Amino acid sequence: MRLDFYLSHVTNLARKASKVAISKSRVTVNGEVIKKANHPVEENDVICLDAVPLAWPSEGYYLMYKPAGYVCATQDADHPVVIDLLETHLGQPLKVVGRLDKDTTGLLLFTTDGQWLHRITSPKSVCQKRYWMTLAEPIDDHALTQLEEGVMLNGEQAPTLPAKAERITETEIFLTIQEGKYHQVKRMLAAVGNRVETLHRDQIGPLALDEGLQPGEFRELTKDEVAYF
Ligand code: URA
Repeated sequence: MRLDFYLSHVTNLARKASKVAISKSRVTVNGEVIKKANHPVEENDVICLDAVPLAWPSEGYYLMYKPAGYVCATQDADHPVVIDLLETHLGQPLKVVGRLDKDTTGLLLFTTDGQWLHRITSPKSVCQKRYWMTLAEPIDDHALTQLEEGVMLNGEQAPTLPAKAERITETEIFLTIQEGKYHQVKRMLAAVGNRVETLHRDQIGPLALDEGLQPGEFRELTKDEVAYF
């Protein structure tokens, strides 16, 4: 990760103050004064501030408001990838927790912690995800009941698990699901003869997307939020 990011995590210096400390030759890496804020550091490096050795930081956990148009892959030849919105900023090797389609917006999590990621995405874990969507056609009570009780998706052997469907308007609903099959929400709506026009995730388990966050913005999770999963 970048040296300035590292310093801001293991000392009480903010990011800007970390850059200043580096430029003032207060920081050494393996005995050498480093004056570049983006100098890469690794766990085995001996990093000192004012000659005092520092520890390696703990795992990173972030949430982001995913903007439309970004894909959740590590690399993509044709589209911007969502990890770049964080990684270039933080210089930390983060993994995206689950996936949202390119056109889907909303709550997306990132971490360096593989076990935490697994606890959220494993098919065995029960982690509710809430989606808000607009639909091409008005939706009736029968279709909402079908969504809640389980529908058969193309190419699957078993119906979807019980879900919660809440009507907001004739063509707007919340759907809360515990699985994470490929294009699951869009396929569920297709299975009841409808079509998703816009899709937005606003909640994962007890964690909701912050109201003040703009598309593309992110923040670190608090310790309590990390402990939800
Ligand atoms: N279900 C979908 O169909 N798309 C998403 O992006 C997320 C859930």
